Amino acid sequence: MMDKASRLKVALQKSGRLTDNSLDLLVRCGLKYSRGKDQLLCYGENMPLDLLLVRDDDIPDLVQQDVCDLGIVGLNVIEEKRLAFQARGIAPLFEQLQVLDFGKCRLSIAVPDGAKYDGPASLRGKRIATTYPNILARYLRENDVTAEIVTLSGAVEIAPRLGRADFICDLVSTGSTLLANHLREAEMIMESRAAIISTPVAVSAEKQAWIQRLRMRIDGVQQVKE
Ligand code: ATP
Ligand code: ZN
Repeated sequence: MMDKASRLKVALQKSGRLTDNSLDLLVRCGLKYSRGKDQLLCYGENMPLDLLLVRDDDIPDLVQQDVCDLGIVGLNVIEEKRLAFQARGIAPLFEQLQVLDFGKCRLSIAVPDGAKYDGPASLRGKRIATTYPNILARYLRENDVTAEIVTLSGAVEIAPRLGRADFICDLVSTGSTLLANHLREAEMIMESRAAIISTPVAVSAEKQAWIQRLRMRIDGVQQVKE
C-alpha cells in the first residue's frame, strides 16, 4: 500500500445524524476499516484512505485548510461556511463533489404556535434566533426584510420561550422538535442533504485516481438504492 502522504484523508461526523450513513456509504463502496485507539482516526485496510472523525461544523475548515482531502457534511453547513468565508473576504477552498441521499432536512423559519405569519414581511423588525446567521442574512436581504439575527450555538428552539427571540430559523426534518417546543414551521429557506466536498488543492495522481474511483463507487451505490 502507499505511504502516509499519499493516503486520502476523509473527514466524517464523529457522532451525530450523519455518522452511521457516512460510514455505511464507505463500507458499501468496499472499504474495510479499523478504528484507532483514540476513536478519532479510522484506518482503511483495503484502500489507501483514512477517516478522521470530527464535529460536523469543523469539516469544511479541515478541507479548506487541506488537512483532509474529502469530507462528508450537510449542505446547510457547507453553505453557511461558504458565506461566512465570503463575508470575511476569504475565498472558500472547498468544492462540492456529490450530493448524497441521506441527511435530508430543511432550514426553515418557525414561529410560536398562535403567532401570525403571512410571508417574509412578517419577519420585519423581529428577532430571529439561529445557528445559521449567514444563510438567514442572505434570505432576509433577498426578501428586502430588515430583522435582528440572534446568533446562538445551539438550543435554538427554546429561544422564543426564553424571550431571546420572536422566531427561529433552524433545521427541521420530521417537525417533532418544533412540536415539542410549541413552534410551527412557517417558511422553508433551504433544502439540505449530505454532500461530499473536496479540496481544490492539486493532489497526487495516485490520490486523484482514488478520488475518482470512490466517486464512481458512490454513484453506483446510490443508484442501487434509488
Ligand atoms: P456535532 O456534534 O457534530 O456538531 P450537531 O449537533 O451539529 O453535531 P447533528 O444534529 O448530528 O449535528 O446534525 C448533523 C447534520 O445532520 C445537520 O447539519 C444536517 O445536515 C443533518 N440533519 C438531518 N436532519 C436533521 C434534523 N432534523 N435536525 C438537525 N440536523 C439534521
Ligand atoms: Zn454541529
